[in-house]
Amino acid sequence: MIIGVLALQGDVREHLHALTECDAQARPVRRPAELESVDALVIPGGESTTMSKLAAEFDLLDPIRKRIAGGMPAYGSCAGMIMLATNVLDGRPDQRGFDGIEMTVRRNAFGRQVDSFESPVEIDGIEGDPFHAVFIRAPWVESVGADVEVLGQVTTGEAAGRIVAVRRGDVLATSFHPELTGDLRLHRYFVDLVRNAA
Ligand code: GLN
Repeated sequence: MIIGVLALQGDVREHLHALTECDAQARPVRRPAELESVDALVIPGGESTTMSKLAAEFDLLDPIRKRIAGGMPAYGSCAGMIMLATNVLDGRPDQRGFDGIEMTVRRNAFGRQVDSFESPVEIDGIEGDPFHAVFIRAPWVESVGADVEVLGQVTTGEAAGRIVAVRRGDVLATSFHPELTGDLRLHRYFVDLVRNAA
């Protein structure tokens, strides 16, 4: 079982590291042939407008969309969440994504003046303490389709109640960056999900 990390832009290395720490085989994906050789795909945090542009330039937009529609497990953090959404608010008009989860996300939703913040988030299906979630110019989820499960919401402060973790079948997305904090529980959750799907 090999998990790819979309390596066009963003915190690719951090995801590769976290997956390896979870005893998964992980490798970067930059070309359609590399996509074909993986069983699942992580879409990192970074900048979704740039990632969208590069995905089109590298001929990966439609192949990734097709793989996900065909059941390939995927996990997107932050910009990766935006790339997985069917509908993006405050995006660029020409921004395109992979349509992996029927949901509307708002880019840079937590306020432009607040570049980043940290907050505890409880994630359904993940045991132990609440997640120490790091949000960096993060999106939130404004609404989800009928088959989308809400896994986590912000619990305190002005953004309390905002949806920041979702799952549709084997496709998972978080507004925050577990790859940056050394807490491997979310990556483990995804690796288990990929193993069960295989
Ligand atoms: N604001 C970025 C975007 O729109 C996401 C930020 C991030 O991934 N940390 O893609």
